[in-house]
Amino acid sequence: MKHTFSALLMMLFTSFAYAHPGEHHGGMLDAIAHLLSEPDHLAMALIAVVVGVAGARFFRRRTAARILAKRR
Ligand SMILES: [Zn+2]
Repeated sequence: MKHTFSALLMMLFTSFAYAHPGEHHGGMLDAIAHLLSEPDHLAMALIAVVVGVAGARFFRRRTAARILAKRR
């Protein structure tokens, strides 16, 4: 469930990666090099990582709280 949610979140954010004009030509390595060299892609990747970490922490804390609540 967590992985599905994370995957869906990542898929949502990839659409924002097409923010700059121009196209993404070339092979896989060119695309990766381009994604790592463009500041707008790096910013979106950073935002996705921050949202992913925040979501993981939220789910982890909620799960821990539910486990503690069951023990009482
Ligand atoms: Zn690009």
